[in-house]
Amino acid sequence: MLKPRVRFAPSPTGKLHLGSARTALFNFLFARSQKGVFLLRIDDTDKIRSKKEYEEDILDSLNWLGLYSDEEIVRQSERLDLYEKIIKALLDKGYAYYCFCSKEELEARRQEQLTRGEVPRYSGKCRQLTSQEVNQKLAKGEKYVIRLKVPEKKITYKDFLRGEIPYDFRLLGDFVIAKNEREPLYLLTSPIDDHYQGITHVIRGEDHLPNTPKQLLIFKYLEWEPPIFVHLPLILGPDGSKLSKRHGAKSISEYREAGFLPEALINFLALLGWHPEGDREIITLEEMIREFKLEKLNKTPARFNFSKLIFFNRYYLKQKPNNDLLQLLDFSNYGNWQNDNFLALNGLNYSREKILKIINLGKERASVVNEILLTVDFFFKDFDYDKNLLLWKNSSFEEIKINLQAIENEFRKLKEEEFKSEKLKQILDNLAGENKGPVFWPLRVALSGKEASPPPFELAEVFGKEKTLELINKALKKLGD
Ligand code: GLU
Repeated sequence: MLKPRVRFAPSPTGKLHLGSARTALFNFLFARSQKGVFLLRIDDTDKIRSKKEYEEDILDSLNWLGLYSDEEIVRQSERLDLYEKIIKALLDKGYAYYCFCSKEELEARRQEQLTRGEVPRYSGKCRQLTSQEVNQKLAKGEKYVIRLKVPEKKITYKDFLRGEIPYDFRLLGDFVIAKNEREPLYLLTSPIDDHYQGITHVIRGEDHLPNTPKQLLIFKYLEWEPPIFVHLPLILGPDGSKLSKRHGAKSISEYREAGFLPEALINFLALLGWHPEGDREIITLEEMIREFKLEKLNKTPARFNFSKLIFFNRYYLKQKPNNDLLQLLDFSNYGNWQNDNFLALNGLNYSREKILKIINLGKERASVVNEILLTVDFFFKDFDYDKNLLLWKNSSFEEIKINLQAIENEFRKLKEEEFKSEKLKQILDNLAGENKGPVFWPLRVALSGKEASPPPFELAEVFGKEKTLELINKALKKLGD
């Protein structure tokens, strides 16, 4: 098989959202799996709706996801000469024509057709104009658009996943392909670029299905071999309607800001419409490339499930090296770095090694990057808690106090270098015997002020001897003398 060349061709009229990112991913996976080429094209012919900031968002998001273009990025706004040449060729060959009908006139015809119970379509009025009439109107500077002649017949066209699809051109009418020679519309520019870029497969969302017969007609008129069309099924929200912001779906950059990892989004998106062999859910990009097959794409819509995304993110957070997470975290609420040491606002001084340990503890309980520090914020700031939190099940204050005193006593005997989690755990195990709760629980609360946190011996190691003893004494004070 010819090496495939595919493209992802977003219009920069909004941020990159989940559905488009999935389209980009499937194009990318197909290209990589077949040792083909993945291209990025910016469909920015709509001057009013296209915005540079959206283009930036789209490109940043694709880079972040790791979906890079194999060749230089093409912008349609820079190819107007090419489109003009093709528009002229279509006009010359009689496949396209100038239409001078005014908006008001078109609207009046539309209303008439609707009252007659007909599907509204352009009447073809300006098709009848002679070239002399056209030239006169052009010379007078009359406003116009350029329409493509649509044959009066029923056809079928092929979609890779769905097979032959019937389509009735008679319901369509001659459609507009350009506002003028220098203002082509997407319907025209897309097939032109697909041809000149040597695109073999157009993989895009199902919402483009109605565009395909129109674009195939352009291929036919220009005597170009069309690509294979693959329309991806929709992504639905949990309620079964088309996925939208209403369902909490965000743009890729918003997920990034909220602390999601690219690996998690890639894994999540891949499973919206495709799945690897077996029941595996966790799958890396490399594995996807090895296993991806267009034939395996689902024909039915995918369902968006937010808790799945959280599941993947938690998984990939745990996998991510702590050093990498360190780069992603924002410590500004808690203190600052000086000479590779972190100085917490309450005067604590952590080495880089300790910070990595803190991250390691925090990521166990976090769903998103930004939660990592929140779950272990007691390392960075003074905290308080209710005395009752120190109580383990039906133990008494007295018992808790005795246990904390015993812990304090044992910990005090240790040298700073001995203040390591294994050693501390051993001491706690010895003190507790069979009944762990009344020993481990109050110490954990004393060191974190929280109902849920990493085990106390881990916390104590990070705090170090002095701070640990200080926090135990604070708890003892709460319990009274
Ligand atoms: N610019 C179109 C869009 O963003 C691309 C459609 C296509 O892939 O042909 O929807």
